[in-house]
Formats: sequence, C-alpha cells, structure tokens
Amino acid sequence: MTRKTDRQLGMFKPITRRDFVQGAAVIAGATLHPNALGDPRAIGNAGQPDIGSRSHYPPTKTGMRGSHPGAYEAAHALGRHGAAFPEPADTGEHYDLVVVGAGISGLAAAHFYREKMGPDARILLLENHDDFGGHAKRNEFHQSGKMVLSLGGTHNLEWWKFSDTVNAVLKDHGVNPQTMLDEMTFEYGRDAPHSPATWFDKEHYGENRLLTNFSLRSRLTAEQISRIPISDAGRASLTSFYASGPTHADQSEDETERLLGNISYPAFLRQYGGLTEDAVQLFDKEQHGSWGLEMRALSAAEAIEEGYPGAHLFGHNWEQEDFEYPVAMWPDGNASLARLMVARLIPEVAPGVTAGSVATAQFDYTVLDQDSAAVRLRLNATVVGAENTDSGVVVNYFSGGQVQQVSARHAVLACYHSMIPSICPSMTDTQKAALKYQVKMPLILTNVLIRNREALDRLGVDAISCPGRLHARLFLFQGIHSGGYEGPEDSSDAVSLVFWGSISPPQEAIDIHSQLRGSRQKLLDLTLDDFEREVRTVLDGLLGPEGFDVAEDILAITVNRWPHGYAYEYMQLWDPDWAPGQAPHEIARKRFGSIAIANADAGASAYTHVAIDQAQRAVDELPETS
Ligand SMILES: Cc1cc2nc3c(=O)[nH]c(=O)nc-3n(C[C@H](O)[C@H](O)[C@H](O)COP(=O)(O)OP(=O)(O)OC[C@H]3O[C@@H](n4cnc5c(N)ncnc54)[C@H](O)[C@@H]3O)c2cc1C
Repeated sequence: MTRKTDRQLGMFKPITRRDFVQGAAVIAGATLHPNALGDPRAIGNAGQPDIGSRSHYPPTKTGMRGSHPGAYEAAHALGRHGAAFPEPADTGEHYDLVVVGAGISGLAAAHFYREKMGPDARILLLENHDDFGGHAKRNEFHQSGKMVLSLGGTHNLEWWKFSDTVNAVLKDHGVNPQTMLDEMTFEYGRDAPHSPATWFDKEHYGENRLLTNFSLRSRLTAEQISRIPISDAGRASLTSFYASGPTHADQSEDETERLLGNISYPAFLRQYGGLTEDAVQLFDKEQHGSWGLEMRALSAAEAIEEGYPGAHLFGHNWEQEDFEYPVAMWPDGNASLARLMVARLIPEVAPGVTAGSVATAQFDYTVLDQDSAAVRLRLNATVVGAENTDSGVVVNYFSGGQVQQVSARHAVLACYHSMIPSICPSMTDTQKAALKYQVKMPLILTNVLIRNREALDRLGVDAISCPGRLHARLFLFQGIHSGGYEGPEDSSDAVSLVFWGSISPPQEAIDIHSQLRGSRQKLLDLTLDDFEREVRTVLDGLLGPEGFDVAEDILAITVNRWPHGYAYEYMQLWDPDWAPGQAPHEIARKRFGSIAIANADAGASAYTHVAIDQAQRAVDELPETS
C-alpha cells in the first residue's frame, strides 16, 4: 500500500489554536539535575503560563493536554530517578490544611475540611497541572461564534452507586442527577442507524472496510463474518465459534467459574473457541477505553461479563439484556463538578455560578490563588516533599524553577499513590510497597473538532471501533443540553469527534504492572505529531470516501493523554483475594502522622464517588491538633 504523505494529510495546515510545545523533546532535554528543571526552557513554557493573566484559560488550550508538557517532569525526576532538589525557599505561608492534588478527591477534601473546621480554615491546594479537576478535564473549542465543549477525561456521574456522603456533596453543590438525566439527550454513539460499526484499515487489514451494525459482542452471522478482512481460516474459526452449541455444558457452575476466572480471554478464545491468531487479534483493543487494558489482561470471566462471547460454550446465553446506562453528565463531563467545587471554595472565581449554568460560566483563573482568601489553589506546583514536624507538616513544591516550602497543621495527599513514597521518604517500607502497588491504567481521549458531521451522517454511524489503530474507538460527542449548554445540533455545525482508548503494552510485558508501565512509557514517547498523523490517517481512510477533506475539515486537535489514568482495580488473573485490611490500598492509605491519604487510588476503584468518599475518610482521620 502507499501511505499518504504528511503534506497530503494536511499535517502542515494551520489548525485552530494549535499548541506546538512538545513533551518528549522537553524531557529528553532535561538532565536530572534540579537546576536543569529550574530552567523554564527545560520544562516547556506550556507548563509555566502566566496565571496572573486573564488570558490564562486552560480549557481552550489545544495540542498536548491531559498530562501536558511541564506538568510531570519534576515528578518523574524525583520518582523515577531520585533527583535531589535544592533546599526549599520558605514562603512564610502557613495553613490549616495543605491538599496535594486538585482533582475531585483533593477538592472534596478541602470541602470536607471546611465543613469540619469552619469557613475560616485556611487551605492551600497544590496542583501540578495548569488546570484543576485532575482527570475531570474540560476541553473547550470556539468555532464560528459557538462554544463546543467536550470531554478531556472523566465522563459522567455513576450516580446510582453513590453513598450518602457523595449524595450530600452533590446536594451541597446544587447538583440533581435526575434533572441532568432529564435534560440529557446524548447516548454514546447509539443513535445513528448503522452504529455500532467497525473500521478495518488498509495498513493492518490490506484494505479499508467499514462494517456497519457490527459488534464483536453481538451474535455475528456467517454473512457478517464473511466480510471481515482476515484470513479464510480466521473467518472459518469465528463462524464456528459464534455458531457453536454448548461444548462444556456438563461442567458444574464452580468448575466453569474456576476455569473462566483463571484463563485470559485471548487464551480462552484460542483454547476453547478454536480461534486463529488473526481472529483473536480482533478483540485485543476492545477494552482499551472501558478498562484501559489490553484484552490479555482480562480473565475470560471478566470479558464475558462485559458481553463478549464465550458463555454459550457452557450452555449459558452470552447476550446480556441491553444495559440501561443512566449516566448523568455535563457537556464537559465531570469537569463541571470540579468547577462547581472550586467555585464553592473560592467564590470569586465564578460569582453566582450554579449547576444549571456551570457549563457555560466564565471562570476567572486570576483569583484562584489570592493572599486574602481562606482557600487558595496554586497551579503548576508539583509537590516533591511532605514531612511531619512537631507542629504539623511542611510541604515542598516545585514551581517556576524553584522549590518552595509551606507549613500547615494537616496535609491530605490526594495525588497518585505511586508518587507518595518519593514525597514521604520516611514512611515505612511496608506502606511504601503498598502505595507502589497502585499502578494506574493509561488512557487517551483525543478530541478532534471537525467542520461538520455530514460524512458520518452519510455513513449512518456515530461510534466506530478501529481494531488496527492507535485509538481503539471513536465516537461523536454532541447534544448534551445540561449545565446551560446547547451542543451542536445541526449536521453542518462543528462538532467534536472523540478518539478514545489506551496503548497496547509491549509484547514482552507479561505481568499486569509491566503491561501498565510499558503502555505508559509508549504513551509518553508519542509526540503531538504522532497523534495528529494518526487521526488524520484514520479520518482520511474512514470519511475521505464520503467527502471529508482531511486537509481542510479538521479544525483543532486536543490530545488528552493520561499516563496515570484509571485507579487500578484488582483483577482476577493478577491479584489474590486479600484478607480484610490486607489489600494494598488499605495499607497504603493509612494516616502518616498529620498527613492523611485520599485519591480514588485509596479505594482501588476508578470512580468519582470513590474519590469523594476517600476524601471524607482522609479528613476524618486527621488528628486533632492545638
Ligand atoms: C479518561 C478518564 C475517564 C474517566 N471516566 C470516568 C467516568 O466516566 N466516571 C467516573 O466515575 N470516573 C471516571 N474516571 C476515573 C477518575 O479517575 C475519577 O472519577 C476521579 O476523577 C479521580 O479523582 P482523583 O482526585 O482521585 O484523582 P485525579 O483526578 O487523578 O486527581 C489527582 C490530582 O493530583 C495531581 N497530582 C499528582 N501528583 C501531584 C504532585 N506531586 N503535586 C501536585 N499535584 C499532584 C494530579 O495531577 C491530579 O490533578 C475516568 C478517568 C480517566 C483518566
């Protein structure tokens, strides 16, 4: 096949507000000497914007976002290479509470602390990114006078799972999930007549072919399978697997459970389903988005639970009821919740904002960190040390090329657990090992603002799996009428196409931690050009035949890369059944003097409500001090 050149793909066309700063070059240029990190050129100007300027409004930034250049270099120098930082300069600032990490958990910790200690409690939140919210990240585009919002990370509220604590937090912030549900019109790519669809690309399958109304999760017919561009033997193996009657129905429930819980899904497909390698490969990336994992990390039981075929071999019906997924969401995902939380802590940032107006409200980042305020939020500040003292805690953070120190009565670490051993080197080895057990799952959400959705409408699809490509799935994101926002309704309106997934781990990575770390490194090694070339190639092959001009119709690209994405949840193939109190996250989150530990990692569960519940627990654990 002949690949298109970068020029043919439009790589050199200017696109809206493109951010040219590259992360990989940046880290390669930084020696591990802290002075090198102190050079703003070494960590990239994107990481040190002028926060005091009203023009600093991170949600509209495009290019490499999520873990953006400038956000992680100091943390990596410390955590990966044990860099020694210079003596901190004392800011002279003293607080009641310092919170490390201004994600949902850190914001919730500040909220609970104020409830406990009163509105005069002085709180400082330190956050290494140039925006607050952590994974709850807002992507905001402006096109032809209209604002287009999209998800940069956390999508929605899984409200039916919420504890009383979380429901109370929602109520305090004026959030009513039922109202949001009533207003919401969006479903994940289920509306178009020919969705779901799967696109097989020429580079990996020899030809570009879109199969519509096609999902590996439904009972594929022989006719559908005949159109999959893999080997004849591969198609034959799929046909016989999908059509198979029960081959192991004589097994007891216990035997089936044991068998399916102890074999990876791909191994199961080979061994029990009789699939060839090229047929098995079709499933590899299917769970990149929902689990952040390659299929080989899942047990057969976990994959079957997700709706993939296999149960029929044991005499069970694999096709689940169409699961009603009554998620409540704002048009920027849970970023709106983070915004509401910040606005309650620091009202000047968006006076009068409500849950009903939050999606469209202006936020003034210049007032996040004011001397006079009870609560301050400091962006671009990476915490590199936190130690107990006789009177509380000192916290060191790296910002603007310098290490600064603040003191406090208490601290809550609401950051990634794997970093805490480097921040608190005097913790016990047992606690450090437990904290390091938490290796988050890498994720990517690349938003591509396209001129209009007409080519997709012509195909009749709005959600497409791409088993051969970097992003395993893409879906059209439009039409959430909640939080005061009207999404792009007309098919001629600019709209965001979300490319969603993770990164396949290196083949040689076997155990789960090696898989996750391997995927993370591969993700960090990709440049913005790599992502841009990838989305242009996909859109050219997929939509080009329907009139989409890849050189003209891409208006902006925002890559939200999350090398530290979902909190790790224990998995059948990799984790034992821990005795009560002995699971790594339970040991990891134990209070350390005046320092308590939050984050979704503390619940070993990647959910917003877990992040909030863990913040409440952490604040409850803080010791009384005079
Ligand atoms: C792409 C994606 C989609 C998701 N979708 C959903 C969803 O739909 N529903 C759901 O419930 N959950 C979802 N999640 C899970 C999400 O992680 C949780 O919902 C929640 O947002 C976690 O909040 P947190 O505060 O615990 O962690 P984070 O959001 O990770 O916040 C921690 C913050 O601490 C900062 N930090 C780390 N180290 C330091 C340091 N040394 N100094 C200063 N700051 C530091 C981090 O940069 C980060 O901003 C999703 C996650 C991802 C990545």
